[in-house]
Amino acid sequence: MSIVNAQIVSCKCGARVELDLADSIHVDRHPHLRQRLLDGELHSFTCLACLRTIVIDKQLFYYDHARRQFLCAFPMSELGNADACDAITRNAFDQALGSGAPPVLQVKPEQYLLRTCFGLDELRDKIRIDDAKLNDLVVEELKCQVMANTPALQERGVIALWLRRVAPDGSLEFLPEATQRPAPEAGPGAMAVSRAFYDDVAALGHEAILAARPGLAWGSHVSMRRLWMESRKQARHGAAR
Ligand SMILES: [Zn+2]
Repeated sequence: MSIVNAQIVSCKCGARVELDLADSIHVDRHPHLRQRLLDGELHSFTCLACLRTIVIDKQLFYYDHARRQFLCAFPMSELGNADACDAITRNAFDQALGSGAPPVLQVKPEQYLLRTCFGLDELRDKIRIDDAKLNDLVVEELKCQVMANTPALQERGVIALWLRRVAPDGSLEFLPEATQRPAPEAGPGAMAVSRAFYDDVAALGHEAILAARPGLAWGSHVSMRRLWMESRKQARHGAAR
């Protein structure tokens, strides 16, 4: 069952706010929690004293057996510990549906989307990609290529692309996440990538994608942010020398 607890947090204005926070979501029993997540309403609250929006970034298990999705979202602050988080996710899967579960419940990890992610944007992204019957390794490679070849995204300080939807013509619509807010004249900011581009990347095959960019995936963590993390680590090493 889903586990939701009331917790008290302090708003920046000093007000103490009682919030309902989920530790785990079982979509089969509580489909409205999936909808809240996809609508951007999960763990997002308005402080009634100052009207600020409070967004809580916390660990969250997400189980959807009908769609065969098993994910764990960790707070962004844990991104540097991605490999340890991957072990937590896979261990939880083992206990729920793998070797630690009663034989009648056991499935193979390949039968599920088994993923570690960081932050609710990435959790939503993984679910939308899977719901659209796309492959997330292909999408992450596509994001790398789009970001490397689109100067406008670099100029805006875009650090991630999140799938918003697949349009009726099959194109993939992404919302860029930028370190700085876009200027008002920048428009709504969504960008579309053609389905033909996706199909071309998919045609490379997983082995070729990972041979060219081995850092893109590790265990249950499949994310272009792994490369960003690696480059930051290398920069720190370089600075230490
Ligand atoms: Zn407040």
